[in-house]
Amino acid sequence: MSRGRILSGMRPTGRLHLGNYVGALENWVRLQNEGWQNFHMVADWHMLTTGYEDTSRIQSDTWDMVLDWLGAGIDPERSVIFVQSQVKQHAELHLLFSMLVSKARLERIPTLKEQIRDLHLDEQTISYGHLGYSVLQAADILLYKATHVPVGEDQVPHVELTREIARRFNFVYCQDREPVFPEPEAQLTAFARLRGLDGSRMSKSVGNTILLSDGPEDILARVKQAYTDPKKIRATDPGRPEADPNDGHGGCVVWEYHRKFNPAGAEEIARQCRAGELACVPDKKHLAQILADALAPIRERRARYAKDPGLVRDIVEAGNRRAREVAEATMEQVREAMNLEPGKAEVPGAAPHGERGR
Ligand code: SF4
Repeated sequence: MSRGRILSGMRPTGRLHLGNYVGALENWVRLQNEGWQNFHMVADWHMLTTGYEDTSRIQSDTWDMVLDWLGAGIDPERSVIFVQSQVKQHAELHLLFSMLVSKARLERIPTLKEQIRDLHLDEQTISYGHLGYSVLQAADILLYKATHVPVGEDQVPHVELTREIARRFNFVYCQDREPVFPEPEAQLTAFARLRGLDGSRMSKSVGNTILLSDGPEDILARVKQAYTDPKKIRATDPGRPEADPNDGHGGCVVWEYHRKFNPAGAEEIARQCRAGELACVPDKKHLAQILADALAPIRERRARYAKDPGLVRDIVEAGNRRAREVAEATMEQVREAMNLEPGKAEVPGAAPHGERGR
């Protein structure tokens, strides 16, 4: 029996990296295997909110990302994989929800403020679509009546807005009927963040990532660049795996990755490092091997799917069909609650049914 329904998506950014895996994908696979009903959306319309000018890579990035989802273990027999723009009901519900939210409420969303800061945008000139992207997210979630939304800490305010919109809709339009929408709960992802290899935020554009599709040699070359304790020069120098805020040391990234991918060995590595019994170069090689082993099944499964593009296309088309069915069933309830079904209303002045045609 299903434990509940999950809606979670990603913008199509092409090949995924270790941070995407740890922050989301690994969790999706776990939830799927625990018996949740997963809906996973390629959020291509969301991509437009910050990148509408150049759409040339959307299709290839979509396929690369879907291959990584499948490689990571998303099973199309158990989880629905679909593309947002192929389910037009998202646009309809977004429009209807946009009447229920004030501009001031949207401007208070913390992630919008962060985006404006990080992308150096002018608050006065951001687009109407960008301002409203969290309303589109609410439509994405509620269209499928998701009970839970797996998110990182920073996305919790979006789920809160979704709950507010669900409450508002139910209050305004469902006084004399069953509420249409559940109020979904945020489900915090356990190991939410993995820093990039240089110790800063992981990002493909910065180049501080390991891709899920990287082979052992690429992984080793990338791990060699990882940030460690800058004061540990020789093997015998006592090292600091953890952060030391007194001199700006953010913590050794190699050790952070050990804790995630080698939890049983991480404490012993930290002990040897602190005692000056371990050098960074062999430790990096050791970590690269651990990562290559961990990613091998993902890389191999991905490669098998990549050899059969017709199958991948069929998987997504079947997912789109399933998503449309669920979305349309919700929209029928929405339209009925809002009196937006002209075909079902009586036309004023029309003759009673029994007298027509006499
Ligand atoms: S020995 Fe390992 S844990 Fe210690 S600083 Fe070097 S890479 Fe980091």
